Amino acid sequence: MNATEPNRFDIELLFNAVNLGLIIVDANGNILLWNQWIIKRSNISRIDAIHAHLNGVFAEPLTPAFLAAIKNTLTYGLPVVLSNALHRCPLPLYDSALMQESRVRMHQSITITPILSCLGERCCLIQVSDSSTSIKREKVLRSHSDTLRLETITDSLTGIYNRRFFDGHYKIALGHAKRENQSLSVFVVDIDHFKEYNDYYGHIEGDRALRRVARALKSQLSRATDVAARYGGEEFVLVLPSLSQQSAADFAEKLRCAIWNLAIPLTKSSTSDLLTVSIGFCTFVPDVDCDPAQLLDNADAALFRAKQSGRNQAVAFTLGTKSK
Ligand code: GH3
Ligand code: MG
Ligand code: MG
Repeated sequence: MNATEPNRFDIELLFNAVNLGLIIVDANGNILLWNQWIIKRSNISRIDAIHAHLNGVFAEPLTPAFLAAIKNTLTYGLPVVLSNALHRCPLPLYDSALMQESRVRMHQSITITPILSCLGERCCLIQVSDSSTSIKREKVLRSHSDTLRLETITDSLTGIYNRRFFDGHYKIALGHAKRENQSLSVFVVDIDHFKEYNDYYGHIEGDRALRRVARALKSQLSRATDVAARYGGEEFVLVLPSLSQQSAADFAEKLRCAIWNLAIPLTKSSTSDLLTVSIGFCTFVPDVDCDPAQLLDNADAALFRAKQSGRNQAVAFTLGTKSK
């Protein structure tokens, strides 16, 4: 086809064939074009739409943001793309009868472009496409990545946080405590004679006991800033901000009792006939400086002392007392 040859296709036919909503409004906002795609999704016929004002054609008024975009295009001749994130469903359009019944609107991507009519009037072309599929895909991807993230920070046996999460969280929590002049307490909890438990009851029962202990420890936490994690094997670690030394001691005792109250039998143990834990803990206080490793080392050393002193007990070390 050369430049002098007439158009082979009826332009109206093309407008109605495209998989895209097309609306043209004149400088006053009156509708000049309303294609088949829009008719199908708005349930408004061409006869009802042509010459009607865009803001009066739907059963509800258009959003101020949408009207402002049209006005800008008509006034300044600038194209506008409505952000899909900010304006998910600007027009009352529905993909199917079912959506219309439940009033669930189609997600839309909208571009508004200035065009000149053959008479030289500035008009505005509104192109609407269905972005439901890409938004759905985005949602699925986001939920996959959320699941993956959760898996990387969760202990697969017990469902509580794992050591990887704890290591990251703990450093941030200590930094925060220092900046805010708050205390931070770290509790290391180790199940007593767990090897004997496994040897006597078997590994599956051992796993079950680990899950129960993890759940019991976690259920002692009450604030969003408190964290319990499985540090490895039969060892757990908890970190809680803003506890006084006395509150930390009370909390450690609460943890010890929570495990005792599970009343998990341990017939072969030399310490007790129920499963018990030993706890070492240490509290960072703002006037004594320490790094994350020092605080954790102190709690660990306190745990060692608790084990040496007969197990089933909580021992506190204050910073600087480790070597005593
Ligand atoms: P202590 O009172 O001194 O802590 O003695 P213990 O027996 O608890 O400590 P030890 O380090 O000797 O043994 C830890 C046991 O924990 C050995 C191991 O079989 C068990 N254990 C570690 N991880 C798991 C696990 O994922 N599942 C099960 N069932 N047992 C585990
Ligand atoms: Mg142990
Ligand atoms: Mg251990």
